[in-house]
Amino acid sequence: MQFGGFEKFTLIDYSTKVACMVYTIGCNFRCPYCHNPELVDETVEARIDEKEILDFLKGRIGMLDGIVITGGEPTMHGDDLLSFMREVKKLGFLVKLDSNGTNPVVLRQAIDEKIVDYIAMDIKSPFSKYTETVGRAVNVNNIKKSIEIIKESGIPYEFRTTIVKSMLSFLDIEEIGKEIKGANNYYLQKFIPTKTVNPQFLKKVTYSDEEFASLKNIMEKYVSFCDIR
Ligand code: SF4
Repeated sequence: MQFGGFEKFTLIDYSTKVACMVYTIGCNFRCPYCHNPELVDETVEARIDEKEILDFLKGRIGMLDGIVITGGEPTMHGDDLLSFMREVKKLGFLVKLDSNGTNPVVLRQAIDEKIVDYIAMDIKSPFSKYTETVGRAVNVNNIKKSIEIIKESGIPYEFRTTIVKSMLSFLDIEEIGKEIKGANNYYLQKFIPTKTVNPQFLKKVTYSDEEFASLKNIMEKYVSFCDIR
């Protein structure tokens, strides 16, 4: 498997764990606010291959807790992704997988094989607004299946939503709450314009701190834990 990027060290992307992070190539969404525009196109040139990452990990046993696999959308790589995760687990590392939830089959397989230790899934919008929000046709049933698989997985997980003010209203957030009701962990993420798939989104804003506090109050009616990041 080939990757579009690699960070050797992160303290902020896998809760309290010390980890490295790989970026897979290609995404089946085109969220206009995406801050990894250089990764979403499947024709992007690979920068590093699996062997180099596994060799790196062999030299970090006892020094790193785990690896974060992010993208792009990692589950688009199907069996190649699962094979990579198996190799990482054989070396004794924890695996955190970031996903947009479009491939419940891969998520189910990874959970059943116990080759994933933490899943972070984006909830882009209420189900009714998905296609509009992500800029691509979406099979929302797959999103629903992924949410249920993750909630019932027994492994640590989080759902999270990046919030551009003009794209998601308070009512939309409440709707998301209803749709993931009973989830353990949910994060409201402030949209920070750095680089974006749609350059016009560099001018977009997120809600104020006070408004985020109100959004948190809304979500706390539906999930066990909610925070802002
Ligand atoms: S933000 Fe959207 S377009 Fe970007 S990688 Fe995630 S799912 Fe894909």
